Amino acid sequence: MPRFDLEYRWNCSHRLMAKEKQTYFTEQEGNQIVEAIERAELATSGEIKVHVEGECEGDAFERGLALFPELGMTETELKNGVLFYIAFDAHKFSIVADQGINEAVETGFWDEITQAMRTKFQSGNMVEGIVLGIQMAGEALGKHFPYQSDDRDELSNDISVG
Ligand code: CA
Ligand code: CA
Repeated sequence: MPRFDLEYRWNCSHRLMAKEKQTYFTEQEGNQIVEAIERAELATSGEIKVHVEGECEGDAFERGLALFPELGMTETELKNGVLFYIAFDAHKFSIVADQGINEAVETGFWDEITQAMRTKFQSGNMVEGIVLGIQMAGEALGKHFPYQSDDRDELSNDISVG
């Protein structure tokens, strides 16, 4: 069962309000995020995924938790998938981590990441915040789940959009 941390919100308005699919980020911003995932996954067998949508009426963690199996994230061999769920218009996000990684990291680890991300989000730096979160999660994954020479990219690094 994946565990996660609390739901976080940020307060600033952001400039990425377009509702059209794939317009939450410019092409360049999207590339920055995907490249951050690629870099992180070069150091770990773990899998990192970013899912974005506009609204989230309920709890961002519950939503991330529901998406986790839908996105195939329960299927990693070592149970080391990490999902960053971001509801742009609702200004909410959550991180959902599978059991393997969750048992390995120290208490408070997810809190540390969410705080760091929220600080960036609140100052309007959405992409920087996401990239930072990916880096931090990647470092932890790398420590506990080092890259294997026969590593497979079990989950696409593309941003998925709801
Ligand atoms: Ca992999
Ligand atoms: Ca991947």
